[in-house]
Amino acid sequence: MAENNEQPLDLRTRAVMAGRAEGENSLAPVLYPSSVFTYDSVEEGQKLATSLAPERFYTRYGNPTINAFEEAVADLEGAEAARAFSSGMGAMSTVVLGLCSSGDHIVAQRQIYAGTQLLLQSVCPRMGIDVTFVDGTAEGAFADAVIPGKTMLVIAETPANPRLDLVDLEALGALSGPMTVVDSTFATPLGQNPLAFGVDLVLHSATKGIAGHNDATIGVVAGSQELLAWLWSFAVLHGGNASPFDALNALRGLRTLGVRLDQQAATAQHLAQFLESNPGACEVRYPGLDSHPQRALAQRQMNSNGSLLTFDLVGGAEAGQKFVEATKIAWQATSLGGPETLVTHPASTTHVSLTPEELALSGIGSGTVRVSCGLEQVDDLQADFAQALAAAEA
Ligand SMILES: *Cc1c(COP(=O)(O)O)cnc(C)c1O
Repeated sequence: MAENNEQPLDLRTRAVMAGRAEGENSLAPVLYPSSVFTYDSVEEGQKLATSLAPERFYTRYGNPTINAFEEAVADLEGAEAARAFSSGMGAMSTVVLGLCSSGDHIVAQRQIYAGTQLLLQSVCPRMGIDVTFVDGTAEGAFADAVIPGKTMLVIAETPANPRLDLVDLEALGALSGPMTVVDSTFATPLGQNPLAFGVDLVLHSATKGIAGHNDATIGVVAGSQELLAWLWSFAVLHGGNASPFDALNALRGLRTLGVRLDQQAATAQHLAQFLESNPGACEVRYPGLDSHPQRALAQRQMNSNGSLLTFDLVGGAEAGQKFVEATKIAWQATSLGGPETLVTHPASTTHVSLTPEELALSGIGSGTVRVSCGLEQVDDLQADFAQALAAAEA
């Protein structure tokens, strides 16, 4: 194919084109299920055994299918390199434990994925790593909590679970001293690119929108060659590498992410406005609504407002539980970014391990409902939500 240097390609175009190995003429991603690759001489074996991330040696070190997915994500994130892991948590635990040692300090956002919060709260202290949680939406909160010479890592998630709070990526990228990582799962690589704002690492649970069909469990981190080499050295011993099968599904999913995200975001915008006009629902949260407290920030740093929205039901816990049980098209499940619209009641599911105080700090009320918009037609979804609202209020 001829090189096109005339104008930068749209991210959605790049999602279709990225991660294709030189000389590979299979249109679909190629699956290399092999756990091991042969070599012809002792010299070659020695070279492979001592090189960084060899592609064809042993799959825990690297694998052509996994590498194709990693290259595609690196391309979309504007990163030098990327590494895939067995899950989003595999990616997060590798970043945390690969970069931090006993005596180090981490600053993390309070509004964060519950698994990440538990890792920071329960595993890190056991490893002698101190963690300070801050309100990621408050100006200067990360900078104020950094202890010079001690803070190794700053962890942010934007848009954040589950209230779609945003973190100012430019302010985060401007922090000097610690390394910065953004969990950008809700945005996907097409929705925002934290590295462009000076952030060091971007992380995704590709289980969600990237793979996009609920058939892969996989995580990915992208950043500089230097940081990724360091992470690779830890990861190859930690052993949390991705499976080639999941990398195949994730790369196939990435090809259609552009159209999926566009439709899901349009549906989310429509449903958010519908809910906002309904007296049974209050405080609808979606970055595309004028009522979102960080609407201007969303416009500055996001290319898409995303597929998720959250709202509170005036009837509290009972109404929240009735709503999610009453939907007929939307399913109850805790994931996001797939073809099926999913509804969750965070207080009783994803965030059930949090104390009432932690729930309040994360902005999760008893009647909070999180919606991951799928690919069903929006009119059908609106009708489903209307009848579920009526059931919740009954
Ligand atoms: C799901 C999720 C994770 C964890 O990813 P897994 O693939 O389930 O390990 C991390 N962060 C966010 C924002 C998520 O939604």
